[in-house]
Amino acid sequence: MNSTKHFSVVIIGAGPAGVGAALKLYKSGIKSIAIIERNDKIGGIPSFYKRKKGGVRTFMRWSRGGYPVFGQDYAAWLGKQILKTDVEVKLESQVLEIDAKGKMLTFVNSKEGKVNLSADAIIRACGSREETPAERKWIAGARPVKVFFTKQILNLVDRNNLLPMKKPLIIGSDIIAYAAAAKLKAAGASDSTIVDNRTSPKAPFYERLYFRFWGNPQYRGFDVKSLEITGVKSATGVNLNGTHIDCDGIVICGELIPNSELALIGNLKVNIPSRIPVINKNYQLSESGWFAAGNILGGFHGAEWCYYDGKKVADYVLKYISKS
Ligand SMILES: Cc1cc2nc3c(=O)[nH]c(=O)nc-3n(C[C@H](O)[C@H](O)[C@H](O)COP(=O)(O)OP(=O)(O)OC[C@H]3O[C@@H](n4cnc5c(N)ncnc54)[C@H](O)[C@@H]3O)c2cc1C
Repeated sequence: MNSTKHFSVVIIGAGPAGVGAALKLYKSGIKSIAIIERNDKIGGIPSFYKRKKGGVRTFMRWSRGGYPVFGQDYAAWLGKQILKTDVEVKLESQVLEIDAKGKMLTFVNSKEGKVNLSADAIIRACGSREETPAERKWIAGARPVKVFFTKQILNLVDRNNLLPMKKPLIIGSDIIAYAAAAKLKAAGASDSTIVDNRTSPKAPFYERLYFRFWGNPQYRGFDVKSLEITGVKSATGVNLNGTHIDCDGIVICGELIPNSELALIGNLKVNIPSRIPVINKNYQLSESGWFAAGNILGGFHGAEWCYYDGKKVADYVLKYISKS
């Protein structure tokens, strides 16, 4: 049996929410803090967005009146703040199991193998992911190559300078869809067609306006129960209510759902089907000593909101630790 190392607070996830929580706890005098992160960098989702000449800044900083930054720069700023502290950060370390009653977790990495940790309090700051087509229920048809999620497009376009499509079609119409359309245009594709099963785009006008600097995607909204992806070897388009819209690649964007896999494994209560954790007014989960912060709490929030949410949850954690 592996030994178990104890911390005052362990945080799962080094995105904006996890980092915000760690910094607030550290500055409030809690010196025994660990963050466990499965990626190779601090920063969460923003770290997937590269800084590029002519690229698209899709993250808002709230300070100095608010200004947009590249995700990579936002992630680097978070990393810099953490480096100024003694917070122990375990990168490339995936939390596999939790023991909710024992306030324990097990993570694995290639250097140490399986490691057990316990803590006075644990914060789940695991973020959210995009719903799969099956979860969305209205996206049917073939799954040929060149059907991507936003994160795959970021990896190809931003990290590897590859443009997998020239005539993109985007399914989903919230801000992530408009950001993806701008990114693809900036990388050399034509203006995207954005489709959704609603007559007007989900992203409000002022959010869409920002991305007009890079391109002018065409919105095709349909009041339909299903959309069919067409193509045998490669995606060729979608059928909507008898209308075929051509493309040479599809991106399925938006519709975020909390990363609640660990909670489900560890018997922490989760609302189904939304997968939003059950929390009380003190941000505590269904077992004492467990908390959640950031996009895991549901809805779509920008990075800076999640950063401040992490700080807010840290206040509840501090109160909990001082009482126990
Ligand atoms: C595809 C996508 C694109 C987005 N684009 C934008 C955008 O352009 N602009 C914007 O403002 N917002 C965007 N968002 C919203 C974005 O999620 C927030 O801005 C912000 O990053 C959320 O912060 P967070 O800390 O809650 O979660 P995240 O940033 O998602 O961080 C959570 C961290 O937890 C880690 N983690 C999860 N599970 C485990 C585990 N079991 N073990 C170890 N580590 C784990 C993850 O690796 C991740 O680093 C996007 C979201 C998605 C899903």
